[in-house]
Amino acid sequence: MIPWHPLRFRPLYKQYLWGGQKLRTVLDRPLDPNGVFAESWEVCDHGADQSVVLAGPLTGRTLRELVVEHGRELLGDAGWRARQALPSRRFPLLLKYLDARQDLSLQVHPNDAMAARLDPPDLGKTEAWVVLESEPGSVIYAGLKPGVDRPALAKAIDEGTCADCLHQFEAQPGDCLLIPAGMVHSLGRGNLVVEIQQSSDTTFRLFDWNRLGPDGKPRALHVQQGLDAVDFRLGPGAARRGLVQPENGPAELARCHAFVLHRHALTVPRVLGGDDRFRMLTVLEGALTLDGDPLDEPLARGGSALLPAAAGPVRALPRGRAVFLETHLP
Ligand SMILES: [Zn+2]
Repeated sequence: MIPWHPLRFRPLYKQYLWGGQKLRTVLDRPLDPNGVFAESWEVCDHGADQSVVLAGPLTGRTLRELVVEHGRELLGDAGWRARQALPSRRFPLLLKYLDARQDLSLQVHPNDAMAARLDPPDLGKTEAWVVLESEPGSVIYAGLKPGVDRPALAKAIDEGTCADCLHQFEAQPGDCLLIPAGMVHSLGRGNLVVEIQQSSDTTFRLFDWNRLGPDGKPRALHVQQGLDAVDFRLGPGAARRGLVQPENGPAELARCHAFVLHRHALTVPRVLGGDDRFRMLTVLEGALTLDGDPLDEPLARGGSALLPAAAGPVRALPRGRAVFLETHLP
């Protein structure tokens, strides 16, 4: 019998070339000031990339091991059944931070049906971004401008003018953007965001700004598969902005077939979970303590935790005022 409690994990850092220093300077992570850090994976079960438990009786265990050995307790009954239907049988969601010092490539992800036909089969990828910080003039590209059809997009990719086909908007802290599978998108330089996504490996790169990779060659594009994956009915993406954030109540930022995302602003304790579903939490402002957390330090800005379904209701206590995201399965 495992005494289930909130799980805290060691972050996994990705040093892609487009990254910067904001994970250190904004989120206060103990990172090399001379390094380039693009992503911090907070909750992940993704091949060799595994969240490892930091404290408590499960210290040192990977999320994959917990899913395989204790899936029903971790995921809850509905989550367990959903996971059994996945080609990869992995933990279904992934939580990460992204620091874009450069523009990311223009890309698209397949939906579940198309991904299931890949070799090997995969999960589709719908994702959501919540903007933490945005430098003046930083943009997000999301969705095609009205009227852009497959021939027009294919021609623009061919001519290196793909970005002209995309809707773009200036990002603001607090923006939340749901990016359904099939929507072309790119995170523009100067944005620090939280990403919640289906745990999928499949990205089709349509355009890479005519850049060269670290080896001096252009990175591979996946134009045909990408065009097949684009859902031309989707149109421009729109951030949820100016959403009223109730004090001590949740605001729903995104809801899709893969996850439901809420933002909380707490000045008093609140009970989370207790409905046989797991929760992923990450703190945007302030600090939060979770009852039963074996790690003797509160979740500070950028800190994340996983509440296993079997942990039951967990009381979250803000230190002053805490703003955080809560994600669960629909
Ligand atoms: Zn993406």
